[in-house]
Amino acid sequence: MALSLAGLRRYAARKSARVVFRRSLVICTERPLISFTFDDCPRSSLLAGGAILESFGLVGTYYTSIGLLGKDSPSGQIFVLDDLKAALERGHELGCHTYSHCDAFETKAEVFEASVAENCAALSELVPGAKFKSLSYPSSEPHPRTKRAIAKYFQCCRSGGQSLNIGTVDLNQVSSYFLEKAGGDIHTIANLIDTNTEARGWAVFSTHDVSDHPSQYGCTPVFFEEVVQYAVNSGSLIVPMTRALEVIRGVGRMEQSVLQDSIPHSSVVRGGMR
Ligand SMILES: [Zn+2]
Repeated sequence: MALSLAGLRRYAARKSARVVFRRSLVICTERPLISFTFDDCPRSSLLAGGAILESFGLVGTYYTSIGLLGKDSPSGQIFVLDDLKAALERGHELGCHTYSHCDAFETKAEVFEASVAENCAALSELVPGAKFKSLSYPSSEPHPRTKRAIAKYFQCCRSGGQSLNIGTVDLNQVSSYFLEKAGGDIHTIANLIDTNTEARGWAVFSTHDVSDHPSQYGCTPVFFEEVVQYAVNSGSLIVPMTRALEVIRGVGRMEQSVLQDSIPHSSVVRGGMR
């Protein structure tokens, strides 16, 4: 495959975010962790997906772009204000997805940052007292500059990556697995959960709509329920993103922020405590 110089630069930049501006935390918990997250918040993610989680006594994390409220999207109609409030009332966690759903790689870091601020302000206005504690990067893995700029606002920022967080997690780019990529095959997810259970890692699952005729970004309620059932049977602790983080921090692990302006850097602090 021939790549132009510009193409190579772009490829390198996309990959490089994983290894720079990390905020690494060692994961060492008694129980493996699983979080369920939804991006964009199409209404079905709460009405169907949330209802399934709740039927198991669980809650999830909803990454919302308030500028999209009530609008149509490729994964169906987005939350209306009542859904946003209902999600909170029912114990789910809200997360930031920028106000205007800014592409995390293509958008200039300053514009992305402004859209984060706008989303946070909009949430406080709509639901006084509510705050976003985590973010998920819209559309793409983040640009390294955006990853660096955003780190200070959130306890963690979730990305894609189709992988588990095992051993350590980069709080500035928490890996997640988009359920729709499994193509409805529960064995793919079962293998991931088994691996996560054995390693006592943190598996984060993401999707968009949960509907009988899902978009290419969503999954069916039947599949989602199978996944949740398998997760429950694994004995994992299933909690929203920032609760999972509290559990990881609760066992006394140290954390180090590595946000240098100059050289790309990666660092993990390994605590000796248990
Ligand atoms: Zn999105």
